[in-house]
Amino acid sequence: MTKTETPASAILHRDTRFVPKKAIGGKGSYIFLEDGTKFLDSTGGAAVSCLGHSHEQVNQAIKDQVDQISYCHSAFFGTQAAEDLAQFLVDSTGGKMSKLYVVSSGSEAVEAALKLARQYFLELPTPQPQRTRFIARLPSYHGITLGALAAGGHVLRRQPFEPLLAKNTSHVSPCYAYRGKWDDESDADYVARLAAELDAEFQRVGPENVCAFIAEPVVGAALGCVPAVSGYFPAMKAVCEKYDALFILDEVMSGMGRCGTLHAWEQEGIVPDIQTIGKALGGGYAPVSGVLIGDSIVQTMDKGTGVFRHGQTYQGHPVSCAAALAVQKTIQEESLLANVRAMGAYLEKQLRQRLGAHPYVGDIRGKGLFWGIELVKDKATKEPFDPKTHLSFLVQEKGLHPEHAISLYGCVGTVDGVRGDHIVLAPPYNVSAGEIDLIVDRTARVLADVFAGLK
Ligand code: PLP
Repeated sequence: MTKTETPASAILHRDTRFVPKKAIGGKGSYIFLEDGTKFLDSTGGAAVSCLGHSHEQVNQAIKDQVDQISYCHSAFFGTQAAEDLAQFLVDSTGGKMSKLYVVSSGSEAVEAALKLARQYFLELPTPQPQRTRFIARLPSYHGITLGALAAGGHVLRRQPFEPLLAKNTSHVSPCYAYRGKWDDESDADYVARLAAELDAEFQRVGPENVCAFIAEPVVGAALGCVPAVSGYFPAMKAVCEKYDALFILDEVMSGMGRCGTLHAWEQEGIVPDIQTIGKALGGGYAPVSGVLIGDSIVQTMDKGTGVFRHGQTYQGHPVSCAAALAVQKTIQEESLLANVRAMGAYLEKQLRQRLGAHPYVGDIRGKGLFWGIELVKDKATKEPFDPKTHLSFLVQEKGLHPEHAISLYGCVGTVDGVRGDHIVLAPPYNVSAGEIDLIVDRTARVLADVFAGLK
């Protein structure tokens, strides 16, 4: 379907002039479309479908929960489904986090995390009401609602709404070795430079005014899977601790196994004070996200008012909780984290072999089953393509054509005013080596097709 053949639709689609084809089924790594196309879902949507589609065990758990009870308001009643999910997730942190707050989307989880950080300082025995500021990174993405958008540093998504966004977040550089690290600079020196920048930002806004620093363990939608260099997160956390500010990790995209450990922080040598989770929490079987909360915050709230001044109609939704628990149990029972690590290493190898020498592939980076490809016009200078080319979206759109039939998540990252093009791959945790071969082959073909069209 091209944009000129658009049928009528009462839905306000993302692109108002383009009605996407309908998905009528799904199994494993594939989505079946109404026109008969068998579509390779190599991104799990946006790093969501961690078990692929239509996993029997999860489907059954959802049906069982609906038969029992599908909704009750959390102000009146709790449910076993929500209790079981919370216990499972708290246990999964080895007791490092002590409570779970369940909502529906990543944006809502981030909103709750920001408000919790603020309220924590109000609940301290000596309250610190002046703590109203956040420090985040540019680029970053923390969600689309106004609070989360204001915290994030996704230039393109912020731009039309800039006048509506609260001005209490400032941004520092991300850890982005491909463009940010100087030639001949060691990882340790790079980390020290970024820690000094964060420290200087605390000083600039007044350390006593900062609630929290928020970061993604691997920058996802805003920069195409950029992991930090070793030692980065401990250095950032040390700066936060120096000023008694909280450290929030937004693991909505990179957490719940996506990077090869259930929690991305397990590989970073730190534990956040607050952690947001989403996407692979429920694997797309239900809209579900959460906030994992460290004990000192929980204790402070308990001894303070004992009331989190935040609440939503669908929080702790039993069907979402049952779906999420079934997804998480399946990941455990089928030893899928080991497969994420093994297939992730295989995906990296295949990407480097097939695309490493590609004239327009500037960087290939990632972790686990979360890989990004940065496309550049000039490999030597790292000059990006003209933004008017909309390259990453051309790639995403080309992938949708039936002759390619692969999802390639295009994203745009703006660093120091320079806009770059990135492609994200995020296959399901139960992906096979054969499917990885197919993903890499189709990706290479899509790129060849797109660049042929640009000549
Ligand atoms: N935080 C991060 C790191 C994300 O990647 C996203 C979505 O991509 C969000 C928050 C927002 O999640 P949602 O789209 O479910 O609201």
